[in-house]
Amino acid sequence: MQNIYVAFPGGRFKALTFSYDDGKLQDRRLVSIFNRHGLKGSFHLNGGLLGQAERIPAAEVRELYAGHEVSAHTYTHPTIARCPREQVAREILDDRKALEDLVGYPVRGLSYPNGSCSDDIVRLLPLLGIEYSRLVPTTGGFSMPEDFLRWQGTCHHNQELERRGEEFLAFSRSQYLYLMYVWGHSYEFDRDGNWGLIEGFAERMGGKGDVWYATNIEIVDYMNRWKAMRFSSDCSLAHNPSAGSVWVMVGGGVAEVPGGATLRLGA
Ligand SMILES: [Zn+2]
Repeated sequence: MQNIYVAFPGGRFKALTFSYDDGKLQDRRLVSIFNRHGLKGSFHLNGGLLGQAERIPAAEVRELYAGHEVSAHTYTHPTIARCPREQVAREILDDRKALEDLVGYPVRGLSYPNGSCSDDIVRLLPLLGIEYSRLVPTTGGFSMPEDFLRWQGTCHHNQELERRGEEFLAFSRSQYLYLMYVWGHSYEFDRDGNWGLIEGFAERMGGKGDVWYATNIEIVDYMNRWKAMRFSSDCSLAHNPSAGSVWVMVGGGVAEVPGGATLRLGA
């Protein structure tokens, strides 16, 4: 039987994503840096705090974050593991509703406010339409997460970003999927006086043909498309029941299985 591996879009095996919290005004500068270099990020916003305390105003959300993902971060940023579950549910649904009214698509991601998370909350999230949520601790590694509801990044941007970026760019073994996931808050670049760090990183990482630049939810959606794939018992036939393509490595080559198609793989 031929060996079949899932690949990222275009047959790539490396993906880069960013996750920034709180929607402070410094997001304007961060988004412009990402846009200049073709990088994609997820921006976790508090729908009940927009326009307050140096946060991006509601009227600016749709246009500023176009091409990126607007994602939830609870309505008012409480430490949810200490809250009644009714409050947790309301904080998430109210945030989704406020953001969806602005961006015009279902908001399906979350990052835990203050990193606050519990087993009960993780069980609750799918019932509230949340498909991934990011934690504060990082792995230092480049693996895909086992559990998207307990998603840990590679690093915060203050954790040896440049060295990790070089390590990521150097990977050349296509038998693995590598994900570099960077998180933080854009106001930290002002606070720490280190905008040069992210500007240099974006310039170095952008424009690489072998890297898939994706938002958090695009990665979740793509892996769900992969999971939905159906193969014949000998893996010679691949059926993709989803609307978008899935790419697979077959032997030494790459095959795109378009949405709705059944493809014969390999020679
Ligand atoms: Zn936050």
